[in-house]
Amino acid sequence: MLNIVLFGPPGAGKGTQSQKLIDKYNLIHLSTGDLLRSEIAAGTELGLRAKSLMDNGLLVPDEVVIGMIANKVKEHKHAKGFIFDGFPRTVPQAQGLDKLLQEHDLEISGMLALKVDDEELTKRLLLRGQTSGRPDDQNEDLIRKRVQEYNNKTTPVADYYNGQGKFQAVEGIGEIEEIFQELCKHIDALLEKEEKEDKA
Ligand code: AMP
Repeated sequence: MLNIVLFGPPGAGKGTQSQKLIDKYNLIHLSTGDLLRSEIAAGTELGLRAKSLMDNGLLVPDEVVIGMIANKVKEHKHAKGFIFDGFPRTVPQAQGLDKLLQEHDLEISGMLALKVDDEELTKRLLLRGQTSGRPDDQNEDLIRKRVQEYNNKTTPVADYYNGQGKFQAVEGIGEIEEIFQELCKHIDALLEKEEKEDKA
């Protein structure tokens, strides 16, 4: 089973690339941001609690997102694999994910991290805000706060996977197709490695 963490700051292109990757590799896309926005749209209690944090560019508590992911992994336990997008965003979330996958006899195959500088991110998110309808994409201060949350709390997640020998950085500025091909190259290498291990 191919389980990829697609990593990178808000606006790095994780959503765009996830869509292309799930089509090519037949994977399940699990975006905690999308799951939280669905909860808000459905008016659930969880959505209500998450909304005020999201509207302020702050992270939702670890146990909330881990719980949502646990339900989805259970729901799709016969899938070919998962792309985790926007999750894990803290080290406790990464530890929670490892534990959860272990319970299903699974593990993360690798983390692919899209690299984009802060100025480019702000530009991209403001542009996305013109059409996405997302309130958190329409205010420059809020965007900077989200990027700051990422730099403070989420960057250590890369070290976590690096420590497991699973980290791979990918240039996130350029043509969408070029970036996609680069991601595919790394995923194909991971698939090859898994095949070899299965045969051994
Ligand atoms: P995203 O769509 O990934 O940019 O997420 C939008 C917002 O949802 C973030 O700014 C956070 O408030 C919240 N969020 C999404 N994923 C997570 C996560 N893994 N942990 C905590 N908060 C999250």
